[in-house]
Amino acid sequence: MKCKNCNEKNLYKANYCHKCGYAFTEEDRKEAYSQTIFGFFDRIEEMYKKIKLDHITGNMYFKVLSILFVLAIGVFNVLSNGNAFKVLDSEQYDVQYNTKTEEYYLISEEAEIQVSLYLPKETKTICVMEFDDSGNEIQQFQYTIEDAIVLRNNGNVYKIKAVYSDDICQSLMIRIFE
Ligand SMILES: [Zn+2]
Repeated sequence: MKCKNCNEKNLYKANYCHKCGYAFTEEDRKEAYSQTIFGFFDRIEEMYKKIKLDHITGNMYFKVLSILFVLAIGVFNVLSNGNAFKVLDSEQYDVQYNTKTEEYYLISEEAEIQVSLYLPKETKTICVMEFDDSGNEIQQFQYTIEDAIVLRNNGNVYKIKAVYSDDICQSLMIRIFE
């Protein structure tokens, strides 16, 4: 730092001017330090801390974005679950889902029941395959989304496929009991 008395150059941490003995103040030393490379890096570090803590967490955009992000996850969950192909309740049967066999059990007194389905909105056609107890396919039908799907209450297993545009499908298994 420059001496205010004689203009001589001194170290930034000097207490007295080495030429005239002028006493530097704490303020003089701080100012001199801030002009060194160390002071420069200190300022960068301080700025970085400020940006990191105040700017990001205290920032309104950050808060709004966090809330939007959480909301988006929620909406995504609702949409993805809402898009699952499933059997809906009906007055014609009681419905139970067996998580082990991943089969729907429809319990009904009726000889034939119309299955109420929740179809994913991309569904183009519905394919119903009927299997006997030994797993042999007995028959297969194609339905449009407007058709009523009527299944016989005969102890057989039905595999129902909701078919989308390019042969992609979701399927579910139904077993009907009395
Ligand atoms: Zn001096």
